[in-house]
Amino acid sequence: MIAVEEALRIVLDSVEKLGWEYVALLDTLGRVLAEDIAAAEPIPAWDNSAMDGYALRAEDSHGASEEQPVVLQMIGTVGAGQIFEGFLEKGQAIRIMTGAPLPGGADAVIRQEDTHATGQEVCILQQLRPGQNVRYASEDVKAGEQVLPTGTFCRPGVIGLLAALGRRRVAVYQRPRVGILATGDELLRWDEAPQPGKIYNSNSYAMAAQVLQAGGLPVLLGPVADSKDLLAQHLREGLQTDLLLTSGGISVGDFDIIAETLKELGAEVLVRKVNMRPGKPFTFALLEQTPICALPGNPISCMVTFELFVRPALRKMQGHRSLFHPEITAVAAQSIRNKDHRPAYLRVILTQTDAGYVVRLTGDQGSAMLHSMAYADGLACVPGETEIPVGSQVRVLLLGDEPAAPALESC
Ligand code: AMP
Ligand code: MG
Repeated sequence: MIAVEEALRIVLDSVEKLGWEYVALLDTLGRVLAEDIAAAEPIPAWDNSAMDGYALRAEDSHGASEEQPVVLQMIGTVGAGQIFEGFLEKGQAIRIMTGAPLPGGADAVIRQEDTHATGQEVCILQQLRPGQNVRYASEDVKAGEQVLPTGTFCRPGVIGLLAALGRRRVAVYQRPRVGILATGDELLRWDEAPQPGKIYNSNSYAMAAQVLQAGGLPVLLGPVADSKDLLAQHLREGLQTDLLLTSGGISVGDFDIIAETLKELGAEVLVRKVNMRPGKPFTFALLEQTPICALPGNPISCMVTFELFVRPALRKMQGHRSLFHPEITAVAAQSIRNKDHRPAYLRVILTQTDAGYVVRLTGDQGSAMLHSMAYADGLACVPGETEIPVGSQVRVLLLGDEPAAPALESC
């Protein structure tokens, strides 16, 4: 049995970044750039106005005030998207809108609020500095500048910048195709009627949702009965994916045939049992270079081992720089006890307070208690044989982006 950190290292060392593909700009959301993005043109491309107001020569506003306005002659209007063809001479002003190119001869813009327009004339109520309310060419991005390096995570701001550079298709790392194979004689497909002794296959759907959340593309295979021949056949099918997940059949029961079947197929088993709770049976193997994560059948063990081992692997394959869930420390609102000698990953609900995050268990932590995961904002990491008293600090891995506010009240 090895430590969680060691198992994680083995898994991560066994997977590689995938290739890249061009996708439409919006499809880059949540993905990672596989090209260095340089700017062909500067942004902005020309000096332009930061305000709705009047373009003028700053020296013409010298000494202007509310009491002693300077009066300038209005010679035209320029809006965003237009070009003013003329040239601004001494004593003149041009009505200008935000984003419009600064007319030749002007070197400042006065805000509309600091003027008083009277037909063909405009009263300037304030003295300006040259450059005031002007956005200079290249001040955001210079021509030729490397703006976004390979490895950049595409969030909305990145997509905005790419659009401003005129990009429509962008190279990003591929999404891994992840085979999902649930095993067990007791499993019903969703379209089968309930039967005594049988249960619906929930793991495939929970895993598929986790794969999607981690950026991968789930490929549902099975479920498959506890038969070595059928299992071998499905495992071989799964080798066409980038990573294969199985659930169930990896413990010590009479029908737990995954490890044996993997070995018979010639797989190299690199992890077999991890010192953790839940999730001890987690197994990792390579079969014809396809990484296979064999997750325990208990729904919670299955989901927790996915978050700890599979998600970082999928993120590495997609070129992410940060592979792991964000970690916080929170204050225990109840005493949290791990009687087992193994480190525990307990499902917790987080509440944000003025004093920081407060944490409490979702309830019964049994590894078959599906609702404990449904309500969980995070996983509290509690070392073996440890009791965390009320008010003490606990390390928590955040499962979502933000704790889900409504769930805090409802359980
Ligand atoms: P196993 O590891 O195959 O012995 O399964 C452990 C427990 O998880 C048993 O109670 C199984 O019925 C349950 N289980 C296994 N696979 C699934 C699944 N795909 N969906 C829901 N529960 C499952
Ligand atoms: Mg089973």
